[in-house]
Amino acid sequence: MFIEPFIGSNNKKDRKGHIEVVCGSMFSGKTEELIRRLNRALIAKQKVEIFKPAIDKRYHEFDVVSHNENAIRSTPVQFAEDIILLAGDCDVVGIDEVQFFDNRIVEVANILANSGKRVILAGLDMDFEGKAFDPMPQLLSIAEYVTKVHAICMKCGDLASYSFRLSDAKEKVVLGEKESYEARCRKCFYEDKK
Ligand SMILES: [Zn+2]
Repeated sequence: MFIEPFIGSNNKKDRKGHIEVVCGSMFSGKTEELIRRLNRALIAKQKVEIFKPAIDKRYHEFDVVSHNENAIRSTPVQFAEDIILLAGDCDVVGIDEVQFFDNRIVEVANILANSGKRVILAGLDMDFEGKAFDPMPQLLSIAEYVTKVHAICMKCGDLASYSFRLSDAKEKVVLGEKESYEARCRKCFYEDKK
């Protein structure tokens, strides 16, 4: 069970920051879990900023939108470094779809956490071939707290960790949801993998 960390003192000078990662396949509720944590910080009147890579325009430009439409306003950014400036003096930084940033997001997450912020990163841990999705492995290594969430296999109903691509497209990034991907368990993923 995940014991949710808190950022400690209300005196910002005394705060130790940290990094949390929420990872999993598509349809595993990563974004919902990110939003849950951010909403609870907002209720406690902590200052929250949310970012996502500008690449992800599937839904509304300025919202982190999960599949249950429980949205929070977010800022799309082109480069990971932009987050440092834009985060300002906030207490909690949420970053969604973190796998679409390049490796500089690792240093950015450290800089934010070292300045006393709670940093919550959500994203895919594997691509459609079942391979580690950079830079997620690096982020998992530097995080204090890691949560892997699961979907339900759309073929057999078991717990699913894989994102199975229904089309023949070979690019690493194909945006789109229900029409392009299915959550699969290990067995059902490798049985049908092309
Ligand atoms: Zn299955």
